[in-house]
Amino acid sequence: MKQTMTLIPTLRETPADAEIKSHQLLLRAGFMRQNSSGVYSFMPLGIRVLQKIETIVREEMENAGAVELLMPALQQAEFWQESGRWYSYGPELMRLKDRNNREFALGATHEEVITSLVRDEVKSYKRLPLTVYQIQTKFRDEKRPRFGLLRGREFIMKDAYSFHANQESLDEVYQRLFTAYTNIFTRCGVDFRAVIADSGAMGGKDTHEFMVLSEVGEDTIAYSDTSDYAANVEMAPVILTKERSTETENPLEKIETPGQKTIEDVASFLNVSQQQCIKTLLFKVDDKYVAVLVRGDHEVNDIKLKNFYDAGSVELASPAETQEILGCPVGSLGPVGLKEVEILADQEVEFLVNAVTGANEEDFHYINVNPNRDFEVSQYTDLRFIQEGDVSPDGEGTIKFAKGIEVGHVFKLGTRYSEAMNAVYLDENGRSQPMIMGCYGIGVSRTLAAVAEQFNDDKGLLWPANLAPYQVHLIPVNMKDDTQAAVAEELYQDLKAQGLAVLMDDRKERAGVKFADSDLIGIPVRVTVGKKAADGILEVKIRKTGEVLEVNKAELAETLK
Ligand code: ATP
Ligand code: MG
Ligand code: MG
Ligand code: MG
Repeated sequence: MKQTMTLIPTLRETPADAEIKSHQLLLRAGFMRQNSSGVYSFMPLGIRVLQKIETIVREEMENAGAVELLMPALQQAEFWQESGRWYSYGPELMRLKDRNNREFALGATHEEVITSLVRDEVKSYKRLPLTVYQIQTKFRDEKRPRFGLLRGREFIMKDAYSFHANQESLDEVYQRLFTAYTNIFTRCGVDFRAVIADSGAMGGKDTHEFMVLSEVGEDTIAYSDTSDYAANVEMAPVILTKERSTETENPLEKIETPGQKTIEDVASFLNVSQQQCIKTLLFKVDDKYVAVLVRGDHEVNDIKLKNFYDAGSVELASPAETQEILGCPVGSLGPVGLKEVEILADQEVEFLVNAVTGANEEDFHYINVNPNRDFEVSQYTDLRFIQEGDVSPDGEGTIKFAKGIEVGHVFKLGTRYSEAMNAVYLDENGRSQPMIMGCYGIGVSRTLAAVAEQFNDDKGLLWPANLAPYQVHLIPVNMKDDTQAAVAEELYQDLKAQGLAVLMDDRKERAGVKFADSDLIGIPVRVTVGKKAADGILEVKIRKTGEVLEVNKAELAETLK
């Protein structure tokens, strides 16, 4: 490609509202342009990098046995109502109406659409397991879009969904996709780590996030300095920091989850959707894990309501909403809540923004309750989130913290969606069973920004060879010099014929401008056609190391290999 034919609008100045390196450089080097807040156009250079990442994603997904399809971004509200998320997803879901006043959402994720599709098309265990994926634009009305492509309101995601007849099959595919993700981020060249994650609004239990390690990351990772243990601090177990004094009433005794005291039991007890703000915390008591779920039911009377009823923002939740937020049908809740709320509230956990409390009965649940305002919280001082310097929960090594950018997320969803939406299959005995599901996301456009964040220097971007928009940046120093222009044209054709992706700066700009732009864009190899071109001598410069060598024209292709 010749620069006079493409569009690479580089900027000398750093755009004022771009706070981090990747955002600044991707704008300055002309890879993208902002439209509105969190909404961007990919310019010709940007789309090339994006496509490289997509190619890697596709190769690894297909290799792991996933097959590509493409679902609509425009999704009918009915699907979301069936799953319950129409009521619980909140303002991040972009909603709109068509001319007939029918409601729709712009896809923030596709569990509902894929579950409805597979429920219609797959009826027998013989068609399972099935793993599908798509690469598509997603819409989320983020509260704080920022850092360019890192947190957009319109962004590109690879999302995959798997359907199974049994747990072993899900475990196997989850493992396979975990490996695929490891391969994808390794091939992208980023420094990353897979960590134990919070299942958030998606529902489900086993879940890992893939984090690119970076100071600008919004997540904090707790990891052991000696073992493989790594978790998102959001979800790192709350630990007991000192022995609980015997005089203190032990709130854990209040948790009556009969027969649910082993980790497996607790985990299956927790196989619920957890609204992001409704945290489930695990901690260890006498070698057992106890789950603390922020929710309320039977013991509502124990909650010392102060001004619960007249607090304007407290609303009665609909049964569907209650079911979604609490994660299980109203009426089937285990005992609760108040004590757990107290423990958590003391940990200064921001979890009750949208908490639910109420009785174990339909229409008796309130949302938007706040500790202190709506009920009193008491003091427990010996529980807290994991901290730096703690012994790792696996007993090996000491906990350290690092910042991470979440580029990927894998979940074992279980039957959360298939049950809600009646996606069933007939098993070998002709019995109808809900499909067991997994889902797996990669922020493709976020990954592009994460790569840019990790690969740059004071002059500009430093693309790893396999993601670079072009492999060679060919620069005739002076286009008005006929010899240089002719040699450059000849090399351009030659290199292209050899299968190399070449960008040629054929602009009639000063050498200084061309070199500065070239450094900014960050193509790995620069070939300069200057005064010595008349003698068949060119200069090859490695962008990353600054290493320069003079090469004979005839040997160029060989040198570039
Ligand atoms: P975050 O915690 O950063 O808000 P998320 O947990 O809400 O992300 P998921 O629902 O797990 O995101 O979506 C799968 C992937 O999509 C994420 O791992 C991330 O890489 C990407 N992603 C999510 N939100 C955005 C966004 N606003 N802009 C760009 N990429 C995003
Ligand atoms: Mg999010
Ligand atoms: Mg997240
Ligand atoms: Mg996530």
